Amino acid sequence: MKIWLDGGLQDIEAARVSVLDHGLTVGDGVFETVKAVDGRPFALTRHLDRLARSARGLGLPEPDLDEVRRACAAVVDANPMALGRLRITYTGGVSPLGSDRGDHGATLVVALGETSRRPDSTAVITVPWTRNERGALAGLKTTSYAENVVALARAHEQGASEALFANTVGQLCEGTGSNVFVVLDGEIHTPPVASGCLAGITRALTAHWTGARETDLPLDVLERADEVFLTSTLRDVQAVHRVDSRELPGAPGPVTAKAMRVFEERAGNDLDP
Ligand code: PLP
Repeated sequence: MKIWLDGGLQDIEAARVSVLDHGLTVGDGVFETVKAVDGRPFALTRHLDRLARSARGLGLPEPDLDEVRRACAAVVDANPMALGRLRITYTGGVSPLGSDRGDHGATLVVALGETSRRPDSTAVITVPWTRNERGALAGLKTTSYAENVVALARAHEQGASEALFANTVGQLCEGTGSNVFVVLDGEIHTPPVASGCLAGITRALTAHWTGARETDLPLDVLERADEVFLTSTLRDVQAVHRVDSRELPGAPGPVTAKAMRVFEERAGNDLDP
């Protein structure tokens, strides 16, 4: 397996990042997960825009997006796989312990792992912890993901594949690695970015292609929604058949099934929508 580090391809076993990298010591970094279908990254321009936006939000040096593009191309070429997940990690670089971010530049790593198509439907739980829609990191895709790791572990303990958060004012926000949509009276709604959720790329494409509306929704909308679905780079559009103890029999329901079809068709016809 070859990954990209320090401006070129390296064997993953030989590649080394400093133990003083600020990404490791304080989680000062940003990342993207990009789907690569038959060696072709999907929606790469949108992912690079978000990487740069997240980096700016953390005050990291502006990433060289041409290098990131070259790195992605080189990594998928070097590791042929039918369905891969490219992981772009960009951190604050090496800096002495206990100090601010150093002036040693940044660290860019691009790696690839194999992935597989997700089932058409899944179970989710809600968790008692909140997303801080007014926090400094709101909407940034940073490597400080430990809270998501804890919530996802709880979901797995309960036989679910995702955990959903409310924000500090009790509104439905997002999952640990996905955005959430609900169907109410035949209309599709998703929380606005102001709720504190990530501006998901699959969310934006799905909303655009299905006409979904951005709506502030209380968390308990999940107790009465006709249908619920998730979106993310690795799930695409995925129906939800259980929320906590509430079963949603027949998932994917008709509106979700249509959204899944529309997404598959449109995304299949345009690699960089
Ligand atoms: N929300 C969070 C917290 C995420 O980490 C992700 C995954 O990247 C998403 C939502 C979904 O975003 P996307 O559709 O761009 O993968």
